Amino acid sequence: ASQRVVVIGGGTGGATVAKYLRRLDNSLDVTLIEKNAVYTTCYMSNEVLSGERTLESLQFNYDGLKAHGVKVVQDEVTAIDHDGRLVLTKGGVSYPYDRCVVSPGIDFRYDQIAGYSEAASATVPHAWKAGPQTLLLRDQLQAMTDGGTVVIAAPPNPYRCPPAPYERASQIAYYLKQHKPNSKVIILDPKPSFTKQALFEQAWKELYGYKTSNAMLEWWSGDANAAGVVEVDVASKTAITEFGDRVQAAVLNVIPPQKAGKLAFDTDLVDSTGWCPVNKLTFESTRHANVHVIGDACMADSLPKSGFAANSEAKVCAAAIYALLNGLEVESPSFSNGCYSLVGKDYAISVVGVYRLSDDGKLVESIPGSGGVSSATATAQDRLFDASYAYSWYNNFTQDVFR
Ligand code: FAD
Repeated sequence: ASQRVVVIGGGTGGATVAKYLRRLDNSLDVTLIEKNAVYTTCYMSNEVLSGERTLESLQFNYDGLKAHGVKVVQDEVTAIDHDGRLVLTKGGVSYPYDRCVVSPGIDFRYDQIAGYSEAASATVPHAWKAGPQTLLLRDQLQAMTDGGTVVIAAPPNPYRCPPAPYERASQIAYYLKQHKPNSKVIILDPKPSFTKQALFEQAWKELYGYKTSNAMLEWWSGDANAAGVVEVDVASKTAITEFGDRVQAAVLNVIPPQKAGKLAFDTDLVDSTGWCPVNKLTFESTRHANVHVIGDACMADSLPKSGFAANSEAKVCAAAIYALLNGLEVESPSFSNGCYSLVGKDYAISVVGVYRLSDDGKLVESIPGSGGVSSATATAQDRLFDASYAYSWYNNFTQDVFR
């Protein structure tokens, strides 16, 4: 009988690993279990907030994976029987596996922000999983009267997509500049610095009056003035910082601290960090044999929690599973990451990185001298090129994951 791989979660990591397992060996029996019929990408979802894009333009079904011979099941996984090597679903079906891959994404530590909860996110959205909350936040921005303050509570490290809160603030400022010029967006941040900071700040100065008396975008950092949000009053949309500042918002977007997706907890794949420890050569869990964890839920050291990285990890994991199932040696992998941030009309900045295993095989580390960020002295034409590369990346990337 053919060997069976069950993949749980049909997001960026899960869809990629299912497709690439079939491409490596089309005799493999690959089943993908995903609770939703349609996936909505978080990448580019900040453009929905500025009205540049529809939510539908971010949606993908699973027909492409089916065409690769992946058996796609719409159901919710409730447990893994590690000893019996079975995946169990809410629908009451159990799926035997030789190898299992788990890519459940993230969940939120609501308890870290007093007054905030999953229920509260129905009025004060996080919009950190693209879907209805993205539209809710967009609608709140559209309904806001001119002169209002939009507050974004940024999360502490580590979290899904390091540049995305700052891209989001940029897209919101871009919307305000066109439609509500007396308004502004304030980022309240527990961190003293963030990725691509110099480039973001340069763009904000050029586009949104950053650090002037009528700035449309402000960043309050957790450096000296402890700007991390520790409490929220949902009724009055007030964010309260570590320092005790109370910032009242017309639109409040709380991006809570994060942890591995619930499924990873339910299946005992998480350690005390709240994330899933894995062997970096194969992405096999160090807690349970024959189960691999990829994407945002796993701990991959220098690799950020991004879709690009999830896709890179998925390909490494697929190759490792193929080798393990066939008694071959697993080759030492390398990884890549890249991320474009759209900060305004025809204006994007980017970062790329290349990674490998450390000599002891234990850590994913950045290869010295590799990668980099967009130039600080780039011309308007270069920023426009970066924006066009961002859109072509999106088209190529979603093709690679879902088609
Ligand atoms: P996900 O893609 O979230 O997939 C998890 C899947 O598992 C979901 O489909 C879910 O329904 C399913 N699932 C969970 N539990 C179960 C269960 N019990 N049973 C069945 N199914 C289950 N990354 C980039 O590379 N570039 C970007 O420009 C970028 N921009 C971003 C912008 C924003 C605003 C945000 C929030 C994120 C952005 N990201 C970006 C990050 C990217 O979206 C994530 O890193 C990526 O989606 C992680 O993939 P994953 O497979 O780990 O999780």
